Amino acid sequence: MLKVNLTDHQYEIQIERHLLKKVGEWVSGLWQPQRVAIITDTTVEALYGSEVKTSLEAHGFEANLFVVPAGEESKSLEQTALLYDLLAENGFTRSDGIIALGGGVIGDLAGFVASTYMRGLHFLQIPTTLLAQVDSSIGGKTAVNTKNAKNLVGTFSQPEGVLIDPEVLETLDERRLREGIAEIIKSAAIADKELWEALKNLKDEFELRERVEELIIPSLKVKRKVVEEDEFDNGSRLMLNFGHTIGHGIENTAGYGVVSHGEGVAVGMVMISKHAEKIGQTPQGTTDQLIQMIEKFHLPTSLENLDTQAIYQAITHDKKARGKQLKIILLEEIGQAKIVAVPIETMTDYLQQEEQ
Ligand code: NAD
Ligand code: MG
Repeated sequence: MLKVNLTDHQYEIQIERHLLKKVGEWVSGLWQPQRVAIITDTTVEALYGSEVKTSLEAHGFEANLFVVPAGEESKSLEQTALLYDLLAENGFTRSDGIIALGGGVIGDLAGFVASTYMRGLHFLQIPTTLLAQVDSSIGGKTAVNTKNAKNLVGTFSQPEGVLIDPEVLETLDERRLREGIAEIIKSAAIADKELWEALKNLKDEFELRERVEELIIPSLKVKRKVVEEDEFDNGSRLMLNFGHTIGHGIENTAGYGVVSHGEGVAVGMVMISKHAEKIGQTPQGTTDQLIQMIEKFHLPTSLENLDTQAIYQAITHDKKARGKQLKIILLEEIGQAKIVAVPIETMTDYLQQEEQ
């Protein structure tokens, strides 16, 4: 169990294999019997929906499953409106609760609905992807996308509890598992040398799956520390963005679904470190260590034919950005990072990767 302590309130994260079977018991420890909406997606509903619903009903809750199509497209204002209607039609009031059962998409969408429907009702997270278990389910950021912008509309709203059952990762495919691995590598690189060593000692993804709790807990601790220090993302929380500025640029320019978030971040971490090493901001040999780690888990360390112009545009957004400062995250060593403000044009140097 991990506790998250924030100024306003605190909550617990329970981490244990097969906890999902005891979900009713867990929720009864937090809420009085009431109406509960389990918001999930089609894939997760088919795998775990009835198990969760049955367990809640056995503990006296009136449980409804509200299912949205699997995929990022569901993180929309349209789905939000449909969910508001479902909640209203089923008589949900502020004393009732929402449980997010799914990956980061469901966590962000259900969290947004829970923090805005009737100005907020009770909310719990049951993350079912590795990315959601190590990253998105804690921290209290909720969001939906608009037509042209990701995560444009959202709230800061912490859950009242998080249940992590690593066993559900058994049904997750390799590419999706790697989305979480990329964030674990990032967390180790910026803040936890021991976690880095633990990752180094793993043979491959198979061993990682077997021992995943040993990685989830320290990864959550890295995120928790930053969130406790800077809940509303005004300062040190930016550390979590290591590799993300270039990563987002790559993701956005490659076209939807071509380069995943984790793949973009993996390449971004390598690119930013390579140039930082060249100008003496990151110690020699750090990038090689990153590359070895990323390769072991079959994430990319570089991509062919990157359109650096387009990536630069995506990072800087518009021409007015000229002359502005951009905060980037650099490694002081493996396990320690710093935030550095650079003129935005400097990104061109970080994106030039021809000279090896
Ligand atoms: P996702 O929620 O789309 O899940 C990926 C896929 O895996 C989906 O098709 C889902 O149905 C399926 N799935 C989920 N659990 C499964 C299981 N146990 N077995 C088999 N299949 C399963 O994507 P994600 O990668 O979990 O999350 C990405 C989203 O998270 C993005 O929208 C991103 O913006 C958001 N995010 C939010 C935060 C935050 O702090 N709020 C942080 C990082 C990412
Ligand atoms: Mg990320």
